Amino acid sequence: RANRMFHPQDSVINVGGVEIGGRKIQVIAGPCSVETQEQVTDIAKSIKLGGASMLRGGAFKPRTSPYSFQGLKEVGLEYLKGAKKETGLPIVTEIMSPYMIERFVEDVDLIQVGARNMQNFELLKELGKTNKPILLKRGLAATIEEWLMAAEYIMSEGNENVILCERGIRTFETYTRNTLDVSAIPAVKKLSHLPVVVDPSHAAGLWWMVEPLAKAAVAVGADGLLTEVHNNPEAALCDGAQSLRPERFARLMGELKGIARIV
Ligand code: PEP
Ligand code: MN
Repeated sequence: RANRMFHPQDSVINVGGVEIGGRKIQVIAGPCSVETQEQVTDIAKSIKLGGASMLRGGAFKPRTSPYSFQGLKEVGLEYLKGAKKETGLPIVTEIMSPYMIERFVEDVDLIQVGARNMQNFELLKELGKTNKPILLKRGLAATIEEWLMAAEYIMSEGNENVILCERGIRTFETYTRNTLDVSAIPAVKKLSHLPVVVDPSHAAGLWWMVEPLAKAAVAVGADGLLTEVHNNPEAALCDGAQSLRPERFARLMGELKGIARIV
């Protein structure tokens, strides 16, 4: 159960040797989409140098338009594995279909369920039958209750390894891509024992806002961060405008050290 009533202590989830929910803030970083082996390995090396503890990259992309780049799919998974081999960083990537579960369980360290699939209950239940750590992003317009109930769908099948991810919600404001719900962080920490990771990149949609939002997230109790980093944001196939360059990412990591224990 996700409810803190049943589990007063904070859960600590082990992702390929990295603990999320413990004393340290863990930072997950990488490109929105895996593009080439060189791109993902290059980014993996630089985020590792910067202090990230996991690599994330999309292979299966849930794009709003069917005409947008949909990801390299299985080939993308191979490139992520290649980058893991080079750097040792555990890999995080998004799943969209229950048909891919077997493959993801074998190749991926932390399986991401994206905002658009937060209430794909059949997918959640099937993931609940595995024991893989799951990163459950908050739905585009989901309430905290709906988000926690989605976690419950995974946990009720037996998989307790759920990490929540606040990534901004849809509001009337259009300046940012979404509105980062900072208050959701202490709220879900109070209601549940699950670790909470914050994704300021998809919340803001603007690279220059990632640093202040990341600091805010850590200050209010986030257990980790997920940020998009690209070695050539102008040419990125997806989400370039919100991607940090590796140097900016390293700078952010340095700044965070002032407010929390990281990596
Ligand atoms: C992503 O992480 O690249 C993504 C698509 O995010 P979200 O599901 O939060 O929109
Ligand atoms: Mn993205």
